[in-house]
Amino acid sequence: MALNLARKCIGQVPSRCIASLASLPETHQMLQKTCRDFAEAELKPHAAKFDKEHLYPKDQIKKMGELGLMAVDVPEEFGGTGLDYLAYAIAMEEISRGCASAGVIMSVNNSLYLGPILKFGNQKQKENFITPFANGVKIGCFALSEPGNGSDAGAASTMAVAKGSDYILNGTKAWITNGYESEATVVFATTDKAKKHKGISAFIVPKPTTGLTLGKKEDKMGIRGSSTCSLIFEDCQVPSENLLGEPGLGFKIAMMTLDAGRIGIASQGLGIAQAALDCAVDYASKRQAFGAPISKLQAIQHKIANMAMRLEAARLLTWRAAFLKDNKKPFTKEAAMAKLAASEAATYISHQAIQILGGMGYVSDMPAERHYRDARITEIYEGTSEIQRLVIAANVFKEYGL
Ligand SMILES: Cc1cc2nc3c(=O)[nH]c(=O)nc-3n(C[C@H](O)[C@H](O)[C@H](O)COP(=O)(O)OP(=O)(O)OC[C@H]3O[C@@H](n4cnc5c(N)ncnc54)[C@H](O)[C@@H]3O)c2cc1C
Repeated sequence: MALNLARKCIGQVPSRCIASLASLPETHQMLQKTCRDFAEAELKPHAAKFDKEHLYPKDQIKKMGELGLMAVDVPEEFGGTGLDYLAYAIAMEEISRGCASAGVIMSVNNSLYLGPILKFGNQKQKENFITPFANGVKIGCFALSEPGNGSDAGAASTMAVAKGSDYILNGTKAWITNGYESEATVVFATTDKAKKHKGISAFIVPKPTTGLTLGKKEDKMGIRGSSTCSLIFEDCQVPSENLLGEPGLGFKIAMMTLDAGRIGIASQGLGIAQAALDCAVDYASKRQAFGAPISKLQAIQHKIANMAMRLEAARLLTWRAAFLKDNKKPFTKEAAMAKLAASEAATYISHQAIQILGGMGYVSDMPAERHYRDARITEIYEGTSEIQRLVIAANVFKEYGL
């Protein structure tokens, strides 16, 4: 399988600056082709149906698991594919180009669920909560946001009170992607309210569990093939062996997880943007107006040029953030820049695609309107664009010693 070959070779690719590459290393190109072919054959033909009928793409996620896409950077000893984060970013883009819902399901499992357990979990937690979730049969979710706070995640009001060898969780988590299908969740709850965000701890909670119920499935604007719901904890008993890291480490775990997750959401934005550009170029080359294809009109050419330029700029930022992470360099600012640039590019490009398609851009016979609806969430989850700007500015001032 091409992915296995890529896995063997990627470990041998020497470190170099991705931004200076004329093209990707051969091994990453191989992975890109495998994912592109899969998305073209297995996702793109069904994406409109998943969207329209709010269908979870169960068979496709299973196949993605078989391809190694549900645990891309998890070491092979825990059932993962053992590739680097650049490989994950490339795979995420290609999958999202075929179906943005499959993209977010993949991204939550890889970076928000498996990511923190891989980084902060002990051997037993990794064996129990990574390996069975690496092949696409079981998936996980990440529960940080609450009805009363999203951006201000440090204000978490879900409580975890120690009782004997357990913790008892009470509270509600909101907007949880994969909430319906997941069989475990990383949950953030306050173990010491007086310490504010430093009193938040992270727990791995298997599902179903007594005391944990699901709220209604949200009726979303886009990414409608993925489920989003509340998780309601009522005297939910969680063994203390499921505490992730130390008590009070939860906020740090969440922020570090989101740093990496933002590279995934940037890649999802790239995939949506690329799909919108594909659709616009194809339509412009076929649609006739005033006796010639509209692609001959300078007004249309300028739109295509702006779309292609913004897409490529965002892609370079995204690959650079992944490269820094792979090389164990700080990447918080770069991940925020990548997410901001790629999500705003996705909204801009899909908006322009609708304009190029004219009336056909506005109806669901063509995918442009779906790309626009799918793009919009990338500016909201895993930190809104306003929050990305805060993160970037804070890091810029720090670089100036201020
Ligand atoms: C489809 C979907 C899936 C999601 N999946 C998950 C998931 O799997 N797990 C999870 O934990 N969460 C998830 N979320 C939650 C998501 O991360 C939050 O919605 C997001 O962080 C914003 O929080 P909020 O909705 O509470 O908005 P608020 O924080 O209330 O923000 C409202 C507005 O105020 C702005 N704002 C807030 N604070 C500031 C500030 N300091 N400076 C400038 N502007 C500010 C925001 O940018 C925004 O424009 C999901 C959300 C959606 C819609």
